[in-house]
Amino acid sequence: MTSHLRLVWIYPDLLSTYGDQGNVLVLEQRARARGMSVETVHVRSSDPVPEQGDIYLIGGGEDRPQILGAERLRKDGGLHRAIGRGAALLAVCAGYQIMGTVFGGEEGQPVPGIGLLDISSGRGERRAVGELAAEVDPALGVPTLTGFENHMGVTRLGPGVRPLSRTIVGTGNGDGTEGCYAGKVIGTYLHGPALARNPGLADLLLAWTAGPLAPIDDTWYQRLREERLAAVLPG
Ligand code: GLN
Repeated sequence: MTSHLRLVWIYPDLLSTYGDQGNVLVLEQRARARGMSVETVHVRSSDPVPEQGDIYLIGGGEDRPQILGAERLRKDGGLHRAIGRGAALLAVCAGYQIMGTVFGGEEGQPVPGIGLLDISSGRGERRAVGELAAEVDPALGVPTLTGFENHMGVTRLGPGVRPLSRTIVGTGNGDGTEGCYAGKVIGTYLHGPALARNPGLADLLLAWTAGPLAPIDDTWYQRLREERLAAVLPG
């Protein structure tokens, strides 16, 4: 358990679409509101991934930066070692696919992932783009997910992971589920950014690192959630 939180934002120069960097800001804000001190490291793709972080974040991106990011993470090995010592990870879209064993490249060719999650991705028939809402695995105690997705990829979950949620609206993994988790690693297709629209997910990551959290004022988060959910869910 920690009162000093170390966040690591991986490859902002390659992977950070649709406000994914907001996930870092939300964790910083929600940790500080609980009295924690926060230190954030932005790791460019030319730099090694530090191993001593508490929560790692990686975002989405286009196919070529995704391929490059996967290669560099695999060669670097720092993220594997960090997860091995118990760090948490939120991986979004391209970052999510990279964590699996394989994903589809720009021509649909199989590209090796880094194997942190038991998932494999390929290219779907058509682009999944738009709002998404999904019910989270009750074991995680997180309210309905809301977000924005934009991807060609479809993802098959292996027995080593559990679905993060079941879709109500949207495509997610492509089989009625959205995202997955294993240990303290969460993968999701959600942008928007995911943690601004789902503070419960932010608090799950924080509680895995820092233990039970005091409630904080969520008025603005709740307004955003209500507005976004009302736009897609039947009244
Ligand atoms: N390039 C990947 C896909 O289309 C990921 C896209 C993204 O990160 N938004 O599936």
